[in-house]
Amino acid sequence: MTNPQIKTRLPGPKAKAIIARDGVVVSPSYTRGYPLVMDRGYGAMVEDVDGNIFLDCAAGIAVNATGHSHPDVVKAITEQAQRFLHMSGTDFYYEPQVQLAEDLAAVTPIDGGVRSFFGNSGTEAVEACLKLARYATGRPNIIAFLGGFHGRTMGSLALTSSKAIQRRGFGPMLSGVYHAPFPNCYRCPIGSTAADCSGACLDYIEQQLFVHLVSPDEVAAVVVEPIQGEGGYVVAPDAFLQRLRELTRAHGILLVADEVQSGMGRSGKMFAIEHAGVRPDMIAIAKGIASGLPLGVAAARADLMAWPPGAHASTFGGNPVACAAAIATLKLLKDGLVANAAAVGGYLMDGLRALADRHCLIGDVRGRGLMIGVELVRDRQTKERAIQERDAVVTAAFNRGLLLLGAGRNTIRFSPPLVLSREQADTAIRIFDEALGEVEKQRR
Ligand code: PLP
Repeated sequence: MTNPQIKTRLPGPKAKAIIARDGVVVSPSYTRGYPLVMDRGYGAMVEDVDGNIFLDCAAGIAVNATGHSHPDVVKAITEQAQRFLHMSGTDFYYEPQVQLAEDLAAVTPIDGGVRSFFGNSGTEAVEACLKLARYATGRPNIIAFLGGFHGRTMGSLALTSSKAIQRRGFGPMLSGVYHAPFPNCYRCPIGSTAADCSGACLDYIEQQLFVHLVSPDEVAAVVVEPIQGEGGYVVAPDAFLQRLRELTRAHGILLVADEVQSGMGRSGKMFAIEHAGVRPDMIAIAKGIASGLPLGVAAARADLMAWPPGAHASTFGGNPVACAAAIATLKLLKDGLVANAAAVGGYLMDGLRALADRHCLIGDVRGRGLMIGVELVRDRQTKERAIQERDAVVTAAFNRGLLLLGAGRNTIRFSPPLVLSREQADTAIRIFDEALGEVEKQRR
């Protein structure tokens, strides 16, 4: 199926009733951009409780890698659920956890052997990387990048600097965390242009942070998203990641790639850092790894992951049902979905770039594979951020049956399931075109 079908005003009556109940009992801290109440999903399509059918280019925040309820994943989950649901991999053994660690070791771009620690979410994967970096190096400090998002628990939150609201009211943060500018080449934080860029974001680490604030020999790790996700789908240039690897290696600092959003095939390679040919010391993995079941992994160089029994663990982490889903997911990714993300992602990117000829709201189209950001601006010269317009375009797309999400302050992200077909990409481009047109008309 390719085309959405909107049968009621949105939200429909059943959706409205559920949203009213949610408003009384569910935490108001969640950011719901529009009133979608899901009933079922198949592939890249989503049906709501009133029978409306949407094309999903959000994938539950870049999670449903294999599409909604892929039969192979459902089969793996069902078979495992019939055997046993839980036995805590921190205290006992079961094969799905071992199998998944072996499968991950075979695909993670980390030198030497690879060991995996299992948690339940992205933030837990990052927490495990932070704790292991401190433990393995005996150093206290961490460097992260402005605009980055690494999670919301108290360790990862100290690295997160995507939106101030995510930190407001929760301080003081974990100490020993320093932030450097991220190489956003559309809006260079240092004021360079692509032509005269000499790597000032990295100079900042060497000539400002290391000189004025923190000795490199007291830095345990640099944590970087190869493609900033929540920060606006901003791709770090290959040369930046390569020089960052050299810089960290020179000072005995560990390089941690946070691939919670960009990993598991989304970028058109299994991990986005592979585009730069860089091999980090640890990778934080979550979101797409288990097609929707909760699972987070800190994958690390085996010689680094040498902490003793009791040092770190999680009751639910590496749950056997989630591991079974992840094993099936990895197989589907290797058997074609990573390649599909590269091919259909390139096709979608070309189609979205072509829209810029007709829509002056489009300032930049960027990304890799099926991780594409479209940044909206009020003026292409000044690059004034089109913040309200961004939200209006997301809503207009929803009303036409296309599910999108914002990222950063004025960017729209396309993060569909990796099963997206070219025909579905055409539908997404057509609806996005109409939504942009509607909002531009209102502005005139
Ligand atoms: N790291 C990155 C790059 C993310 O995009 C996210 C979530 O969006 C996280 C970490 C946190 O993941 P979770 O929400 O599963 O804790």
